[in-house]
Amino acid sequence: MSSSIDGSLRWLIVATMLVPAAATRAAELSLAQKVEILITAYPETLLKAEDGHAHFRSGGTLPVDDGKAKDHAGKLATGDIEDSLSQIYPAGACETKPDVNFDPGRIRSDALMMRLYGASAEQVEASLVSVDWFGKKLRVTKRQGAAAALEKVRDELKAIPEIAAFLSPSAGTFNWRKVAGASNMSVHSFGAAIDINTKYADYWLWAGGKPGRVPHHKNRYPMKIVDAFERHGFIWGGRWYHYDTMHFEYRPELIAIGKAAGVSACR
Ligand SMILES: [Zn+2]
Repeated sequence: MSSSIDGSLRWLIVATMLVPAAATRAAELSLAQKVEILITAYPETLLKAEDGHAHFRSGGTLPVDDGKAKDHAGKLATGDIEDSLSQIYPAGACETKPDVNFDPGRIRSDALMMRLYGASAEQVEASLVSVDWFGKKLRVTKRQGAAAALEKVRDELKAIPEIAAFLSPSAGTFNWRKVAGASNMSVHSFGAAIDINTKYADYWLWAGGKPGRVPHHKNRYPMKIVDAFERHGFIWGGRWYHYDTMHFEYRPELIAIGKAAGVSACR
Protein backbone atom coordinates (compact mmCIF):
# COMPACT_ATOMS: atom_id res chain seq x y z
CA MET A 1 0.00 0.00 0.00
CA SER A 2 1.41 3.38 -0.95
CA SER A 3 2.62 5.51 1.94
CA SER A 4 0.97 8.48 0.25
CA ILE A 5 -2.41 7.06 1.27
CA ASP A 6 -3.24 8.49 4.66
CA GLY A 7 -4.06 6.30 7.65
CA SER A 8 -7.80 6.70 7.69
CA LEU A 9 -8.11 5.88 4.02
CA ARG A 10 -5.82 2.91 4.38
CA TRP A 11 -7.99 1.15 6.96
CA LEU A 12 -11.08 1.69 4.89
CA ILE A 13 -9.40 0.11 1.89
CA VAL A 14 -8.09 -2.82 3.91
CA ALA A 15 -11.48 -3.31 5.57
CA THR A 16 -13.16 -3.41 2.19
CA MET A 17 -10.63 -5.91 0.86
CA LEU A 18 -11.27 -8.30 3.74
CA VAL A 19 -14.75 -9.11 2.53
CA PRO A 20 -15.61 -10.87 -0.73
CA ALA A 21 -17.00 -8.51 -3.35
CA ALA A 22 -20.32 -10.32 -3.60
CA ALA A 23 -22.96 -10.76 -0.93
CA THR A 24 -21.69 -8.45 1.82
CA ARG A 25 -24.65 -8.27 4.14
CA ALA A 26 -24.22 -7.42 7.82
CA ALA A 27 -25.29 -10.84 8.95
CA GLU A 28 -22.64 -12.43 6.77
CA LEU A 29 -19.67 -10.78 8.49
CA SER A 30 -18.16 -13.27 10.90
CA LEU A 31 -16.78 -12.27 14.29
CA ALA A 32 -13.31 -13.12 12.96
CA GLN A 33 -13.77 -10.70 10.05
CA LYS A 34 -14.95 -7.96 12.39
CA VAL A 35 -11.99 -8.51 14.71
CA GLU A 36 -9.58 -8.31 11.75
CA ILE A 37 -11.07 -4.92 10.90
CA LEU A 38 -10.70 -3.85 14.54
CA ILE A 39 -6.99 -4.79 14.47
CA THR A 40 -6.54 -2.80 11.25
CA ALA A 41 -8.28 0.26 12.71
CA TYR A 42 -5.80 0.63 15.61
CA PRO A 43 -2.39 -0.33 14.17
CA GLU A 44 -0.60 1.80 16.77
CA THR A 45 -1.67 -0.57 19.55
CA LEU A 46 -3.11 -3.78 18.11
CA LEU A 47 -0.85 -6.35 16.45
CA LYS A 48 -3.03 -9.31 15.49
CA ALA A 49 -5.93 -11.55 16.40
CA GLU A 50 -4.99 -15.11 17.27
CA ASP A 51 -6.43 -17.94 19.39
CA GLY A 52 -9.49 -15.91 20.31
CA HIS A 53 -7.44 -13.01 21.66
CA ALA A 54 -6.44 -9.54 20.54
CA HIS A 55 -2.66 -9.23 20.81
CA PHE A 56 -1.06 -5.90 21.69
CA ARG A 57 2.15 -4.56 20.19
CA SER A 58 3.49 -3.79 23.65
CA GLY A 59 2.76 -7.35 24.84
CA GLY A 60 -0.22 -8.96 26.49
CA THR A 61 -3.56 -10.08 25.12
CA LEU A 62 -7.27 -9.59 25.72
CA PRO A 63 -9.92 -12.26 25.09
CA VAL A 64 -12.30 -11.37 22.27
CA ASP A 65 -15.19 -13.20 23.98
CA ASP A 66 -15.54 -13.61 27.74
CA GLY A 67 -18.00 -16.46 27.16
CA LYS A 68 -20.74 -14.87 29.27
CA ALA A 69 -24.29 -14.59 27.99
CA LYS A 70 -25.56 -11.02 28.48
CA ASP A 71 -28.70 -9.07 27.77
CA HIS A 72 -28.41 -5.55 26.32
CA ALA A 73 -27.96 -3.92 29.74
CA GLY A 74 -25.29 -6.49 30.59
CA LYS A 75 -23.42 -5.81 27.37
CA LEU A 76 -23.46 -2.08 28.12
CA ALA A 77 -22.25 -2.62 31.69
CA THR A 78 -19.50 -5.20 31.04
CA GLY A 79 -18.98 -5.39 27.29
CA ASP A 80 -16.17 -7.46 25.83
CA ILE A 81 -14.70 -7.02 22.34
CA GLU A 82 -17.30 -9.35 20.82
CA ASP A 83 -20.16 -7.40 22.43
CA SER A 84 -18.67 -4.09 21.24
CA LEU A 85 -18.82 -5.34 17.63
CA SER A 86 -22.23 -6.99 17.89
CA GLN A 87 -24.32 -4.18 16.37
CA ILE A 88 -23.41 -2.89 12.91
CA TYR A 89 -23.23 0.93 12.74
CA PRO A 90 -25.03 2.44 9.69
CA ALA A 91 -23.22 5.54 8.40
CA GLY A 92 -24.37 8.08 5.81
CA ALA A 93 -26.00 11.50 5.52
CA CYS A 94 -29.49 10.17 6.37
CA GLU A 95 -31.33 10.07 9.69
CA THR A 96 -32.24 6.72 11.21
CA LYS A 97 -34.91 5.84 13.78
CA PRO A 98 -33.22 3.18 15.89
CA ASP A 99 -35.12 0.06 16.93
CA VAL A 100 -35.42 -0.77 20.63
CA ASN A 101 -31.94 -1.25 22.13
CA PHE A 102 -30.19 -0.63 18.82
CA ASP A 103 -27.20 1.30 20.19
CA PRO A 104 -24.34 0.57 17.77
CA GLY A 105 -21.08 1.66 19.42
CA ARG A 106 -22.61 2.40 22.80
CA ILE A 107 -21.41 -1.05 23.87
CA ARG A 108 -17.66 -0.91 24.51
CA SER A 109 -14.91 -2.97 26.08
CA ASP A 110 -13.46 -0.76 28.80
CA ALA A 111 -10.44 -3.06 28.97
CA LEU A 112 -9.74 -2.50 25.26
CA MET A 113 -10.36 1.27 25.48
CA MET A 114 -7.86 1.49 28.35
CA ARG A 115 -5.24 -0.27 26.25
CA LEU A 116 -5.94 2.05 23.30
CA TYR A 117 -5.91 5.34 25.23
CA GLY A 118 -4.71 4.89 28.84
CA ALA A 119 -5.96 3.19 31.99
CA SER A 120 -6.16 6.27 34.24
CA ALA A 121 -6.84 9.98 33.89
CA GLU A 122 -3.11 10.63 34.19
CA GLN A 123 -2.22 8.13 31.47
CA VAL A 124 -4.83 9.54 29.12
CA GLU A 125 -3.76 13.13 29.84
CA ALA A 126 -0.20 12.33 28.79
CA SER A 127 -1.44 11.95 25.19
CA LEU A 128 -3.86 14.88 25.01
CA VAL A 129 -3.14 17.60 22.47
CA SER A 130 -4.87 20.89 21.80
CA VAL A 131 -7.29 21.02 18.87
CA ASP A 132 -8.68 24.35 17.73
CA TRP A 133 -12.48 24.07 17.50
CA PHE A 134 -13.97 27.23 15.99
CA GLY A 135 -11.78 29.52 18.09
CA LYS A 136 -11.73 27.45 21.31
CA LYS A 137 -9.04 24.98 22.37
CA LEU A 138 -10.17 21.42 23.06
CA ARG A 139 -8.09 18.64 24.68
CA VAL A 140 -8.19 15.52 22.52
CA THR A 141 -6.07 12.37 22.51
CA LYS A 142 -3.53 12.10 19.74
CA ARG A 143 -3.50 8.32 20.15
CA GLN A 144 -4.95 6.17 17.35
CA GLY A 145 -5.07 9.30 15.16
CA ALA A 146 -8.12 10.70 16.98
CA ALA A 147 -7.00 14.35 17.20
CA ALA A 148 -5.83 14.37 13.58
CA ALA A 149 -9.19 12.92 12.50
CA LEU A 150 -11.08 15.60 14.47
CA GLU A 151 -9.02 18.31 12.76
CA LYS A 152 -10.07 16.92 9.39
CA VAL A 153 -13.73 16.98 10.48
CA ARG A 154 -13.31 20.60 11.61
CA ASP A 155 -11.67 21.66 8.35
CA GLU A 156 -14.53 20.16 6.34
CA LEU A 157 -17.20 21.72 8.51
CA LYS A 158 -15.51 25.13 8.43
CA ALA A 159 -16.25 25.19 4.72
CA ILE A 160 -20.01 25.18 5.51
CA PRO A 161 -20.44 28.46 7.46
CA GLU A 162 -24.21 28.10 7.99
CA ILE A 163 -23.72 25.16 10.37
CA ALA A 164 -21.14 26.77 12.69
CA ALA A 165 -23.77 27.59 15.35
CA PHE A 166 -24.51 23.87 15.81
CA LEU A 167 -20.86 23.04 16.41
CA SER A 168 -19.63 25.69 18.78
CA PRO A 169 -19.20 26.11 21.67
CA SER A 170 -18.31 22.47 22.24
CA ALA A 171 -19.77 21.07 25.46
CA GLY A 172 -16.57 19.14 26.12
CA THR A 173 -14.10 16.49 25.12
CA PHE A 174 -11.79 14.93 27.76
CA ASN A 175 -13.46 14.13 31.09
CA TRP A 176 -12.48 11.01 33.09
CA ARG A 177 -15.89 9.67 34.11
CA LYS A 178 -18.46 6.91 33.86
CA VAL A 179 -21.39 7.07 31.44
CA ALA A 180 -24.20 9.03 33.19
CA GLY A 181 -26.21 6.61 35.33
CA ALA A 182 -24.04 3.62 34.34
CA SER A 183 -21.02 1.63 35.53
CA ASN A 184 -18.96 1.66 32.32
CA MET A 185 -16.51 4.33 31.17
CA SER A 186 -17.57 7.20 28.92
CA VAL A 187 -15.39 7.65 25.83
CA HIS A 188 -14.90 11.21 27.09
CA SER A 189 -12.60 9.55 29.65
CA PHE A 190 -10.22 8.69 26.84
CA GLY A 191 -10.21 12.09 25.14
CA ALA A 192 -11.71 10.48 22.03
CA ALA A 193 -15.22 12.00 22.14
CA ILE A 194 -16.67 15.46 21.57
CA ASP A 195 -20.01 16.99 22.49
CA ILE A 196 -21.02 19.83 20.14
CA ASN A 197 -23.28 22.80 21.02
CA THR A 198 -25.81 21.62 23.64
CA LYS A 199 -28.30 24.27 22.51
CA TYR A 200 -29.53 21.88 19.82
CA ALA A 201 -28.96 18.66 21.76
CA ASP A 202 -31.49 15.91 22.38
CA TYR A 203 -30.47 13.36 25.00
CA TRP A 204 -32.68 10.51 26.19
CA LEU A 205 -31.92 11.21 29.88
CA TRP A 206 -32.57 14.98 29.60
CA ALA A 207 -35.89 14.15 27.92
CA GLY A 208 -36.97 12.33 31.10
CA GLY A 209 -35.90 8.83 30.10
CA LYS A 210 -35.31 6.05 32.59
CA PRO A 211 -33.85 2.57 32.01
CA GLY A 212 -36.52 0.65 30.13
CA ARG A 213 -38.44 3.83 29.25
CA VAL A 214 -36.78 5.81 26.45
CA PRO A 215 -38.51 8.95 25.11
CA HIS A 216 -39.29 9.43 21.43
CA HIS A 217 -36.18 9.83 19.29
CA LYS A 218 -35.37 13.40 18.21
CA ASN A 219 -32.61 15.20 16.34
CA ARG A 220 -32.05 18.86 15.44
CA TYR A 221 -28.52 18.74 13.99
CA PRO A 222 -28.01 18.91 10.21
CA MET A 223 -26.93 15.57 8.77
CA LYS A 224 -24.02 17.28 6.96
CA ILE A 225 -22.34 17.41 10.39
CA VAL A 226 -22.91 13.71 11.02
CA ASP A 227 -21.68 12.79 7.56
CA ALA A 228 -18.39 14.68 8.01
CA PHE A 229 -17.68 13.05 11.38
CA GLU A 230 -18.50 9.57 10.10
CA ARG A 231 -16.26 9.90 7.07
CA HIS A 232 -13.34 10.47 9.44
CA GLY A 233 -14.02 7.54 11.76
CA PHE A 234 -16.41 9.01 14.35
CA ILE A 235 -19.78 7.50 15.25
CA TRP A 236 -22.79 9.60 16.29
CA GLY A 237 -24.89 9.16 19.43
CA GLY A 238 -27.91 10.23 17.39
CA ARG A 239 -28.03 6.75 15.85
CA TRP A 240 -28.66 5.16 19.24
CA TYR A 241 -31.97 4.08 20.74
CA HIS A 242 -30.56 5.68 23.92
CA TYR A 243 -29.92 8.80 21.84
CA ASP A 244 -27.34 11.49 22.61
CA THR A 245 -27.33 13.73 19.55
CA MET A 246 -24.54 16.14 20.61
CA HIS A 247 -22.11 13.23 21.05
CA PHE A 248 -19.51 11.94 18.60
CA GLU A 249 -16.77 9.43 19.44
CA TYR A 250 -13.82 8.08 17.51
CA ARG A 251 -14.60 4.44 16.62
CA PRO A 252 -13.01 3.84 13.23
CA GLU A 253 -13.52 0.07 13.52
CA LEU A 254 -17.30 0.52 13.54
CA ILE A 255 -17.37 2.80 10.50
CA ALA A 256 -15.14 0.31 8.65
CA ILE A 257 -17.21 -2.71 9.69
CA GLY A 258 -20.43 -1.02 8.54
CA LYS A 259 -18.81 -0.23 5.21
CA ALA A 260 -17.45 -3.77 4.79
CA ALA A 261 -20.89 -5.16 5.66
CA GLY A 262 -22.55 -2.98 3.04
CA VAL A 263 -24.73 -1.27 5.66
CA SER A 264 -25.83 2.33 5.10
CA ALA A 265 -28.12 4.77 6.92
CA CYS A 266 -29.49 5.85 3.53
CA ARG A 267 -31.67 2.89 2.60
ZN1 LIG B 1 -20.60 13.02 24.82
